[in-house]
Amino acid sequence: MKDRAWLELSRPALAHNVALLRAQLPPGCGLMAVVKGNAYGHGLPGTAIELCKLGVHDFCVATAEEGAELRRQGAQGTILVLGYTNPSQFLLLEAAQLTQTVVDGDYAAALNAYGRPLAVHIKLDTGMHRLGVPWQEGEMLERIFRYPNLKVEGLFTHLCADDTQDEEAVAFSREQIRRFYQAAGGLQARGLAVPNLHIQSSYGVFRHRDLRCRYVRAGIALYGMLSTTEDTESYAPGLQPVLSARGRVGAVHTLAAGEHAGYGLGFTARRPTRLAVVTMGYADGVPRALSKGRGNMLLHGVRCPIAGMVCMDQLLLDVTDIPQVRQGDTATFIGRDGSKTITACEVAAQSGTIANEVLSHMGDRFQRLWVD
Ligand SMILES: *Cc1c(COP(=O)(O)O)cnc(C)c1O
Repeated sequence: MKDRAWLELSRPALAHNVALLRAQLPPGCGLMAVVKGNAYGHGLPGTAIELCKLGVHDFCVATAEEGAELRRQGAQGTILVLGYTNPSQFLLLEAAQLTQTVVDGDYAAALNAYGRPLAVHIKLDTGMHRLGVPWQEGEMLERIFRYPNLKVEGLFTHLCADDTQDEEAVAFSREQIRRFYQAAGGLQARGLAVPNLHIQSSYGVFRHRDLRCRYVRAGIALYGMLSTTEDTESYAPGLQPVLSARGRVGAVHTLAAGEHAGYGLGFTARRPTRLAVVTMGYADGVPRALSKGRGNMLLHGVRCPIAGMVCMDQLLLDVTDIPQVRQGDTATFIGRDGSKTITACEVAAQSGTIANEVLSHMGDRFQRLWVD
């Protein structure tokens, strides 16, 4: 353990975030934990096992394989596959008792044609134009409800502009919500029972507290942040990051002024310089965009710039100002060391993306250790 590179995953932080999210929810509304993308890099099934201990039993995944793995690990509740599943895998849906998203009208017909009962949630496209039955298509919706092999247990939509604050985006989210409830209301007029409704993902939990839904589908907030530092501070300052990513100093070098280091002579020593080689690289999920000082890591509680180009399995840090660095020392890519912290949101800003992408890129070579 803690051999080359590892993720420390905080049980108390996860418990805190679950409690904080639950406290936002109106009575009767439950938490579906979104664990797609290897639980945003935190690891499946480990994260799901921890969530089960916290009383979270319903999950959202992206693929049937992810869902089947959760079921194998003993998850008891609803496991909703959010994405398209190829008909060749309908057997897997049935065997693992997964709930499949109906992504459009043709797809509902294909699911029905499987010939055996399948649990589904129907997704409504209220304006994102990714997946879903167009919200105005009441007749299509009714046809789907009446397919003999589909057990329609839920109806949901996804807000696609909720992470944006300008007036147009705010109005768009409101309109999506209006469309959703209008479509849901139309079911009753057609003599159909309204199934479990859900709309909000992490942003929605904090930005639309008043919605009457059976579930929220929370991903990034469970892991202790929203997509950017600014949003986390504005909407959900109480969240606590679950993941820290650390590696080892594999070697230390001393360079004379004028010498180079790394691919493409990416680093040039402006002064006599000490470089530490750290045991993680872009194959582990350190964005190559952090090369040449755009990113940092923490060593002995000091922020050290990345020197030259990030390699596939290793990177270089300029540690000239911390003479005590030795082979085998721990280096922190994300997390706290002493009084300093680097967040996934900060890494994301430095590499031109969002925390969700940084986290979900954490690779398989990290050992994943849950700590109390
Ligand atoms: C990924 C996803 C979520 C979770 O989003 P977060 O912003 O991480 O909470 C919810 N719903 C759908 C449909 C998704 O694809």
